[in-house]
Amino acid sequence: MAGLKFKHIYKVYQGGVRAVNDFNLEIRDKAFVVLVGPSGCGKSTTLRMVAGLESITSGQLFIDDVMVNDVESKNRDIAMVFQSYALYPHMTVFQNMGFGLKLRHVKPDIIKEKVLAAAEVLEISDLLDRKPKELSGGQRQRVALGRAIVREPNVFLLDEPLSNLDAKLRVQMRTEITKLHEKLQTTFIYVTHDQTEAMTMGDTIVVMNKGYIQQADAPVTLFEDPANLFVATFLGSPQMNIIKSKLKVDGKKIGVVLEGVESNVVWLREETVKQIVNSGIDLEKEYLFGVRPDHIVIADKGVPAHVEVVEQLGDETIIYAKIEGHDKNIVIKAPLLNSVKSQDDIHLNFLNERVYLFDEDTEHSLIGMPSFSKLPAEVKRNGEIKVGKQTVTVDEEYLSHLMDAAFEGTRLLTIKPEHVSLEEVEGSVPLNVKVDFIEERTNYDIVYAMVEGITPYLIFRASKERKIKKNDSLTVYLPLDNTFIYDDKENNLFAREIVYPNMTSCSVSTLKDGKRQVAINNGEKLVYDELTYEDGDYRFLLKQDKLEVVFDKKTAKYITEGPKVKQPLFKKKKAVVKDEVKLVDPNSIITEAPKDQSLTVSCYDEEPQKDLNYIYVQIKGFDEYVTLAVANNFSVYKMPKFKVVVPSDGFELLPLE
Ligand code: ADP
Ligand code: MG
Repeated sequence: MAGLKFKHIYKVYQGGVRAVNDFNLEIRDKAFVVLVGPSGCGKSTTLRMVAGLESITSGQLFIDDVMVNDVESKNRDIAMVFQSYALYPHMTVFQNMGFGLKLRHVKPDIIKEKVLAAAEVLEISDLLDRKPKELSGGQRQRVALGRAIVREPNVFLLDEPLSNLDAKLRVQMRTEITKLHEKLQTTFIYVTHDQTEAMTMGDTIVVMNKGYIQQADAPVTLFEDPANLFVATFLGSPQMNIIKSKLKVDGKKIGVVLEGVESNVVWLREETVKQIVNSGIDLEKEYLFGVRPDHIVIADKGVPAHVEVVEQLGDETIIYAKIEGHDKNIVIKAPLLNSVKSQDDIHLNFLNERVYLFDEDTEHSLIGMPSFSKLPAEVKRNGEIKVGKQTVTVDEEYLSHLMDAAFEGTRLLTIKPEHVSLEEVEGSVPLNVKVDFIEERTNYDIVYAMVEGITPYLIFRASKERKIKKNDSLTVYLPLDNTFIYDDKENNLFAREIVYPNMTSCSVSTLKDGKRQVAINNGEKLVYDELTYEDGDYRFLLKQDKLEVVFDKKTAKYITEGPKVKQPLFKKKKAVVKDEVKLVDPNSIITEAPKDQSLTVSCYDEEPQKDLNYIYVQIKGFDEYVTLAVANNFSVYKMPKFKVVVPSDGFELLPLE
């Protein structure tokens, strides 16, 4: 039995493939967590890092509060079941199940006891003398599970264990595995690319795409409140309909006009309008309107559509219809008894409380529970944060993670709805709020609350038992662990590493040719035509966000032209994995810089943000690590050592203390 904690886990394979990025997750003891996402999104890599079969590039993995990054696989108390059962063909079921224990020199009578017990749980007691070739696919998979069970692991890892089974058996084994989890009372992490499998099996589902967690939550929450377009369309069958649209504003009302159907406005509820206004979006832009097939009703009036195909599925009817001017059919799930036929002209209504709106560029959801509340705030060096009319105070530890830019002007205090607490918790700051309105969900209520002096809502989840009402005044608590400071470009200014002050000593002198030189403490020398400082000794403060990376020729070619894919010499050899790179505009990178205005840095880690990359580097002459915020167009894992240009405003000289 064990709980797991993933903190900022990254996996970069040799050659630079970023398979997993900033993976953060807490898994309770005895939970059943499912990782789901399309092929190549990093599921197996994540699982293999837990198993210790793959090293962790950066970040920390805890099992029961012990950091296990460097603990060998065999000492992690974890069992893994793969898609291919990998049973030994010459051994019986009994021998296959007991083999791992035999290798560990467990006594034969204990092996027997454990194998018999596991066989009973899996209902394969009568198959123990058979060889794998005498078993069906489902039976083989049970043996593979049995082999894991006898080890009595703390954590069970299952990587697409049902993919090789036929559809009917797969459905049956799903239930078996869920039952097994209940019987064993152990933590399960289950990987699948099949959304139905995920939705029916896990109590927490982690949706991944391109190496990033998109959203992690209970199945019903992912369905009711998808954080973005990816989650909205990945889960649910048939898939959510997505239609280009514009907004129509009429006084206090906002409606959605689907492309090509200007005559019909889908007016939104008052609460939905408040959510749209709160997200601060441009009301003139185009958006993506989303509605699930289950939430469309055929009526006398509404958006006109022409039926193309009607599928009777036995317990429901799926209608594929065309809206004028749209290539893609709109899909409608209707009750079994209905008279709609192919070629009919129908009108559609959308269940107003179940519609979605997505930003075309960010793909974020604009209606429903947002990923974050964002409250304008001013952060002071002494730890005071002003939010509207209130001031909260954070500790030294919190301050030591803030980038310099956090202290400039108005920033955004951000927190996820699920992290706001109604109870006082350790390491949190209190905030007084007044409830404006509530949206009900299956598992909880979403509360939209106002903080005096600012307009954006603080949005949080409250258990239904709390019975929070409109106009209630409450004190909520923001746990500092999960409260961040962002800039308006979605860069998190709260760094995961401690940010040291980038300070050392230096001396300024005038060279023979009149140029000015800054000689860094035991380090390099920087030369400028002019400097406003007089000759002498100073403290040298390197600015975090004024330096630029100088690319070497090889990396420059790689990031502007893409990788060269080597063909394997022999077909049988593993093909070279094609890297996923976003190509960078060659004009946006620096390949040559004045030699005497650059410093060599060696990186130990990075933390990519929306458009910045925080890099933690060593520079000769500095005692501690230096943190820099540079453009997010490369990875230090591709370029662990490089130069940065230091312009004359890239540093500040302070008098010696
Ligand atoms: P999934 O299990 O979700 O299908 P994987 O974790 O297997 O995805 O792979 C994630 C990414 O990492 C893919 O782009 C894959 O090509 C790449 N990858 C996986 N294993 C290796 C490896 N050993 N070396 C280099 N790249 C790898
Ligand atoms: Mg996989």
